[in-house]
Amino acid sequence: MPEAAWHGGRSTFGRRAKAGPAHPPPGRAVLGKTRPRAAALGELAQRTAALFGRVERPARYLDSEWGARRREDVSYRVCLVYPDTYELGMANQALAILYDLLNSIGGVAAERCFVPARDMAALLRAEGVPLATLESVTPLRECRMIGITLPYELTYTNVLETLDLAQVPLHSSEREEDDPLVLGGGPSAYNPEPLAPFLDAVLLGEGEEAAGEIVAAHRASLEAGEDRATLLRRLADVPGVYVPSLYEPDSAGRPRPLAGAPARVLKRVVTDLEAHRSPTCPVVPYMDVVHDRATVEVTRGCTRGCRFCQAGMVYRPVRERGADAVVRDALATLECTGYDEVSLTSLSTADHSQLEDVLRRLARRLEGTGISVSLPSLRVDAFSVDMARLVSAGRRSGLTFAPEAGTQRLRDVVNKNVTDDDLLGTVRRAFSSGWRRVKLYFMLGLPTETDDDIRGIGELVARVMADARAAVPPNERGAVRVGVSVSTFVPKAHTPFQWEPQLTLEEVRRRQAVLRETMPRKGVDLSWHDPEASFLEGVLARGDRRLAEAVEAAWRAGAVFDAWTEEFDLGRWLVAFESAGVDPGAIASGKREPGAPLPWEHLSSGVSTAYLRLERKRALAAEVTPDCSFGECTGCAVCEELGVDVVLGGERRGT
Ligand code: SF4
Repeated sequence: MPEAAWHGGRSTFGRRAKAGPAHPPPGRAVLGKTRPRAAALGELAQRTAALFGRVERPARYLDSEWGARRREDVSYRVCLVYPDTYELGMANQALAILYDLLNSIGGVAAERCFVPARDMAALLRAEGVPLATLESVTPLRECRMIGITLPYELTYTNVLETLDLAQVPLHSSEREEDDPLVLGGGPSAYNPEPLAPFLDAVLLGEGEEAAGEIVAAHRASLEAGEDRATLLRRLADVPGVYVPSLYEPDSAGRPRPLAGAPARVLKRVVTDLEAHRSPTCPVVPYMDVVHDRATVEVTRGCTRGCRFCQAGMVYRPVRERGADAVVRDALATLECTGYDEVSLTSLSTADHSQLEDVLRRLARRLEGTGISVSLPSLRVDAFSVDMARLVSAGRRSGLTFAPEAGTQRLRDVVNKNVTDDDLLGTVRRAFSSGWRRVKLYFMLGLPTETDDDIRGIGELVARVMADARAAVPPNERGAVRVGVSVSTFVPKAHTPFQWEPQLTLEEVRRRQAVLRETMPRKGVDLSWHDPEASFLEGVLARGDRRLAEAVEAAWRAGAVFDAWTEEFDLGRWLVAFESAGVDPGAIASGKREPGAPLPWEHLSSGVSTAYLRLERKRALAAEVTPDCSFGECTGCAVCEELGVDVVLGGERRGT
């Protein structure tokens, strides 16, 4: 079937019939007024299961994995959706945390759903089977709430795909009293405007406390028999919750609050990570998934201050989980899941003040078990290599570092406090310790970048290669490999570079050619992020509500799984932008002066705009700003604004 026909005009299911009173009581018949819930769901489970033999990887759609929760006797069912396939979604830690947390609330069941692959989606549509949760095979449309993670911009069409397959009206304005509440949250919630018409509400920031409050507000509203409009106004009073329909964009695309809505929504943050339980019995998939291992979050937030990094700005301040809690949770998670690897996760794990203590204790406890510990992110310094050596138990698969830019000047511009000597010293230590492969991440198109900076990448890689080869015995030099991964800089909302233009596609290609000319070939594996996908990411990252029409048009034309290289088609998006009357090049590559209206200025991460402007000014002067978790406060304002503080288990070491 051609893709254009695939999505049809409106929903391929058409509008479902409404049945029963608004908000029927627990134990209601969910697929009709007269049929018992169990029988109706049993039939849906059978209809869904009948499709398994006709799709690839049916394990994506199976329930009852180890650790899955199935709670029947509840009055409130929420479906947590990760807008990609099961394999990617099951790696999402926020989903695991919310799943655990919501299932601990009396009367509440949290279940999961991921986006069906194209083959399954086609069958669901053809057979008229509504998308259902994994655990109880409850149709999403029968849940009280659908909570959708917004991990990055290239999943936006997947959000629409999910709603359509669930037979839930795409637009918030079209939803009726018994439709579920559609709530978004996650990194892209910091500029949700391109999805605003599709979301009833958006949670800004961390969910440990807010998720329970949102559910409580919804349940109170249901009990009070409130209509949907009243519910949305009630939700807007929950701190951290943004209700897009209560804002109307002005002529510049800047949302203005309608009567009663807060002028500014401030993110939620938990002050003490240890006060919130870490999920130590997470769901263990039947099939291979991305990052298929136990995980323990050791730190939240990073104040290294890389000026391009949205996560570094919006997840402030730094809060460490203490060594005792990390070791306890790691062992408990391994015990419960049976995994043979545990990963200590954070934006910058090597910065944890008690990392060495944690790793030594884990090494002692896990000795002889065959269980390994992994560190997903390493600093460019000797300490990181020593820590990697401590946990690698003789395995030397490869180390990854992110110098980001090829020259010191440009690294100072982006506040990446790493020198050539740091990198070369780290590489020599890694190769003399037995590693034979490193991977280096760089970005093209960082603000103020010149061709000299690009040639600097090639020159730095050549020096890395030479030092790596010199650090290994002569008979092993042939095994030395350096992977070089180059992405295109995408300016993101709520960063000091939020006003900066993104390179045009033409200019990206020219700069790639410059880099290719200077990049050494022998022993180097050069790979690129697709610049067309980065272009779309840039448009969606800084666009306003007018982009929603284009997102919908692209999805109707067949766009889904845009983050997958084999699925991505920029041409389809360009047609969609044109039909919506949007100039994507102006959004991505147009220059904005600080002070110009921004579509996300009513949403706050707690970091002041004055600080972002100051950081931009320092960037343009190539001045660096130190990390406050190693010393003095540098004035980003988040601690005062949110009444939180940097929480460290001990003194941080390193640079
Ligand atoms: S307010 Fe100061 S101490 Fe707190 S995160 Fe910002 S710079 Fe760091």
